[in-house]
Amino acid sequence: MQNKEFNVDTLVVHGNKSYEEKTGAISFPIYQSATFRHPNFNESTGYDYSRQQNPTREEVECVVANLEKGIRGFGFSSGMAAITTVLTLFRPKDHIVVSEDLYGGTYRIFEEVFKNYGLEFTYVDTSNIDSVKEVIQENTVAIYIETPSNPMMRVTDIREISNIAQEINALLIVDNTFLTPYYQRPLQLGGDIVVHSGTKYLGGHNDTLAGFLVVKDEKLAAQIELLQMTSGAVLSPFDSWLIIRGIKTLGVRLEKQQENALQIAKWLEKHENIEKVYYIGLENHIGYEVNLKQSSGFGGMISFTVKDPSMVESILRNIKLIMYAESLGGVETLITYPLKQTHAAIPEEIRNKLGVNDRLIRLSVGVENVSDLIEDLEQALSV
Ligand SMILES: *Cc1c(COP(=O)(O)O)cnc(C)c1O
Repeated sequence: MQNKEFNVDTLVVHGNKSYEEKTGAISFPIYQSATFRHPNFNESTGYDYSRQQNPTREEVECVVANLEKGIRGFGFSSGMAAITTVLTLFRPKDHIVVSEDLYGGTYRIFEEVFKNYGLEFTYVDTSNIDSVKEVIQENTVAIYIETPSNPMMRVTDIREISNIAQEINALLIVDNTFLTPYYQRPLQLGGDIVVHSGTKYLGGHNDTLAGFLVVKDEKLAAQIELLQMTSGAVLSPFDSWLIIRGIKTLGVRLEKQQENALQIAKWLEKHENIEKVYYIGLENHIGYEVNLKQSSGFGGMISFTVKDPSMVESILRNIKLIMYAESLGGVETLITYPLKQTHAAIPEEIRNKLGVNDRLIRLSVGVENVSDLIEDLEQALSV
């Protein structure tokens, strides 16, 4: 890997090689080939078959690994494919402690797929260190966290959790989709594996699915390399190229998204129809201080509750510029209703405990003009 030591806003642009050596192409080429000719008997160019490795995928894997300060990155066809691969590191009767406020699809794959293979999961509020300690078992092999969490924006202290993980010799797995390595680098805070839905901020344009894993340890890298190559849910050359291109503007996008999000969060807080705003950039947010200790930003994700549940439908019907759609992290501002969309798989009892209720709305703030966004919210909130 090259270009390791630049500042993060340079690194996103020049993530690995900056150009391809042979031709000088500044846009890294798409090697649309499934297989590679051997130069001679028992010789390889380093590329044999694209499930094993492909030059374009290798490039994006290096970019993401450099950004996360890891030693190896792995590209997958979606965030869920990356998460699936992580889970295949474990064996029946292994126990994993998980943040209870979690991306709905992650919860679903744990409960509806991996439980059937004998893995055990306990969900706790990982922003509370004592409650994590309480659920550690003899067979706990990993702690899996999201910070900030989705959709309640809870902040977990990565260093503190990593101390617990180290004590019991368990892996700390951190889903870093929301803040991205531009603002937060969990491997430097004690994490062992970083997980990404590259579909979100890394890609940034709502145009491709992607997932990544990054590690800092050679042994773990070798294990994941085998699992990735063997199970084969790898990122295609074209999608790898889209993510390389997307990451080049990660910095400018996130800065603008964060600036917009802060203004919108402050505006929402003052609105008479709004009950509560969850944005980690607000000083009154419960996780504000912990987040400041471990990251350099707040990102562009806001959740809020309206006072009257019937407002949800009227907002979703009346927004014009902002689009009612799942997903997040792109240049377009999207609004979601977690109860019916991203978190429908989570049992009612847990949802209620978390606050994922019929009044909660999530906003992924884009890069549009902030006055246009506020104007759109204003008209939708006052219908
Ligand atoms: C979207 C998302 C995922 C799943 O990623 P896909 O690319 O949709 O498969 C995992 N974790 C978080 C936090 C997400 O937002």
